[in-house]
Amino acid sequence: MKTLKKKFKTYNPKLKEECAVFGISNTPEASTLTALGLHALQHRGQEGCGIVSFDGEKYHSEKRFGLVGDNFNDEKVLKNLPGNYAIGHNRYSTTGGTALRNVQPFFADTNSGGIGVAHNGNLTNAITLRNKMVEEGSIFYTTSDTETIVKLIAKSKRPKTIDKVIDALFQIQGGYALVMMTQNTLIGVRDPYGIRPLVIGKLKNSYVFASETCAFDIIGAKFVRDVENGEIVYVENDELKSIKPFPQKKVRPCVFEYIYFSRPDSILNGKTAYEYRKRFGAELAKEDNLNADLVVPVPDSGNAAALGYAEEKKINFDLGLIRNHYVGRTFIEPSQQIRSLGVKLKLNANVSVIKNKKIILVDDSLVRGTTSSKIVKMLYDNGAKEIHVRIASPEIKYPDFYGVDTPTKKELLAANKSVDEIKEFIKAKSLKFLTLDGLYRGMGFDKRNDAYPQLTDHHFTGDYPVKIIDELGEDKVTQLSLLSTGSSN
Ligand code: AMP
Repeated sequence: MKTLKKKFKTYNPKLKEECAVFGISNTPEASTLTALGLHALQHRGQEGCGIVSFDGEKYHSEKRFGLVGDNFNDEKVLKNLPGNYAIGHNRYSTTGGTALRNVQPFFADTNSGGIGVAHNGNLTNAITLRNKMVEEGSIFYTTSDTETIVKLIAKSKRPKTIDKVIDALFQIQGGYALVMMTQNTLIGVRDPYGIRPLVIGKLKNSYVFASETCAFDIIGAKFVRDVENGEIVYVENDELKSIKPFPQKKVRPCVFEYIYFSRPDSILNGKTAYEYRKRFGAELAKEDNLNADLVVPVPDSGNAAALGYAEEKKINFDLGLIRNHYVGRTFIEPSQQIRSLGVKLKLNANVSVIKNKKIILVDDSLVRGTTSSKIVKMLYDNGAKEIHVRIASPEIKYPDFYGVDTPTKKELLAANKSVDEIKEFIKAKSLKFLTLDGLYRGMGFDKRNDAYPQLTDHHFTGDYPVKIIDELGEDKVTQLSLLSTGSSN
């Protein structure tokens, strides 16, 4: 979910996980099950969370800043969300300030009844559509591109809600997964390339839609299948129906779901994210002739790749860094002073393991090099002999516009420096990235098919499946006055 930006200087350019969606049909305690599902999906966004339920007559909505477990943890709040249908959302904002009105799901009354919408991803033409609607007299209440979708649905002249949704989908472009709810209909949508993920589960007679399968495990639901690229699924009278209104495209899921976003235990295309990450580590080891005393992961992002690397090379694996699990990301945000402590808040060197050792330090990805440079220094300061950094994905050279929010090349280290220069920058003894071929081998392909790439991988290749229509920049967006309101709602 993209938030339109007024002040770029307040924008934190680090990659972000962007949002989780969840929805469940026809079950008692729908909102409690939704809260549990969102809890399992917490890694996709920690800034805010919300649930909308439908009780057969009325919709109910509760939205909060912060974590699901801190907000939807007692009967009081869940009692405010009665009904057998519910959808929910975890948000990761991409601006410095945030507002409760930007927390999803969004809800709107249309002339065919109410609709709740939860959205993961980014539209590449949201600003263009929004500006046009503003010119025509529309009023926007939030700064989120999700409101553009809601408005397009509401504006459609088609009588049936599902047709209104199709009307809206034909106008939007980008990478998106949507979970929506109308009176007794749960709807799930995945963009034409399947860039953002959405899966279907079953719990007794209910259907569940979620960003990842780990949300099914927590509530005891069975994983049925992925929503296909360009597919609209909806549950009416306990029956799952499917429509594919778009011209058929080849599926190209976002490679970053495999590398970083998804929880290791979630299933992506038949395997857990953990298995892929171990294979990325093993491929990295195959491309590398270095030997060392120890392989150390950057916890937790590098754990699986480091294990795969160590197993392949038959080098000892050990925990040279200890993570404080009680540091929420939001805790790191507030002031520059706290932020500059950065990695130290989260990680500490495990001296007994690293002292006088030649270490291969493995992480899943390198964006601005902040994490790696701080960790390399920390390990040297605590007596490590040599640090060799290995990254289990290729150099990120191109910004993302579909939900992994790195809007400018300037912020990406590998877009501006050679591998050797990055090595100097992070002060490592040596540095290697997994090759693109190695990444594709780790995914189970022989190589990248350049004519029909199997993944959305523009981060490394510059090959964007969906055109960017919006011109990004503060002067390109109309109606920005509420962006300066910071954290008020
Ligand atoms: P950096 O410190 O800027 O080089 O970022 C690299 C670190 O960020 C690695 O430890 C990654 O695991 C982590 N990372 C990768 N992708 C993301 C993302 N989308 N959001 C937050 N962190 C990420």
